[in-house]
Amino acid sequence: MSLLVVGTVAFDAIETPFGKTDKIIGGAATYASLAASYFHKKINLVSVVGDDFPQETIRQLNSHGINTDGLQIKKNEKSFFWSGKYHNDMNSRDTLATELNVLMTFDPIIPEAYQNCSFLMLGNLMPAIQIKVMERMKTRPKLIVMDTMNFWMDTAMGDLRKAISMVDVLTINDAEARQLSGEYSLVKAAQTILEMGPKYLIIKKGEHGALLFNSEQVFFAPALPLEDVFDPTGAGDTFAGGFIGFLARTKDVSFENMKRGIIFGSAMASFCVEKFGTERIIELSQEEVDERVQEFVDLVQFDITLV
Ligand code: AMP
Repeated sequence: MSLLVVGTVAFDAIETPFGKTDKIIGGAATYASLAASYFHKKINLVSVVGDDFPQETIRQLNSHGINTDGLQIKKNEKSFFWSGKYHNDMNSRDTLATELNVLMTFDPIIPEAYQNCSFLMLGNLMPAIQIKVMERMKTRPKLIVMDTMNFWMDTAMGDLRKAISMVDVLTINDAEARQLSGEYSLVKAAQTILEMGPKYLIIKKGEHGALLFNSEQVFFAPALPLEDVFDPTGAGDTFAGGFIGFLARTKDVSFENMKRGIIFGSAMASFCVEKFGTERIIELSQEEVDERVQEFVDLVQFDITLV
């Protein structure tokens, strides 16, 4: 039951009301595979970096059980770079720079040993590459989860719509759901997006939690009320990694189990925002993860007797 994670492995420069970083390690696949590694031990990574990317980080990924044989390292080229600045509410941000660099010519080669994976996480990436990955899988994975962002809606909507039509679960944030559907109501947006192909849609609402839709049901999970949100970068990818990592561990892709997956994903995302970049999710213990999940359970559990 292996899990294949595809997405960016990158450098980020982040500015929040709490501080500013120079180039630090980021990337959708970095966050997603790290988060998944706390639930599932067979994780394979497909991505691309330049030779400016630190070997030490690759070793750290390996020490989390992430196989990096599918991580291409391009000589004399630069890694993907993204820079963003958060507004005071920490729920919205402006992208200051997106430098595709190695991503521009990326040909996602799936090593033979990665074939026949049961779970595929298509992290945020050029939609044309996400499509190529799906087309190159010799057998269709049991579950394909895809994440994307407004950048690709602005620059590659045609490819994006095709990619969306091929996946089982799409994860996007509320603003992106509105942009993709043209609907303000998130319930109407969900109906419109589900008609584009995916069986499930997860709408992430930052500190306001996440919604899971299929054509008949809806589930809501809150985010943990945290005293300080230090840096939300990667929270969405971390959420998705925790979600699919949990599903891969339990091998159950029912709506009921996805509800649990959302709680595990939300718990991982709550760690992510506590420090800059991947700092927090690279150092977690199993105990911390278990305690955090319990906090979620306590947060939402209540007894009601209807009279
Ligand atoms: P999130 O905060 O979950 O949206 O993810 C932020 C991460 O996504 C950062 O670490 C970036 O390196 C990466 N990222 C930003 N823009 C893009 C993009 N257009 N395509 C792929 N990855 C991106």
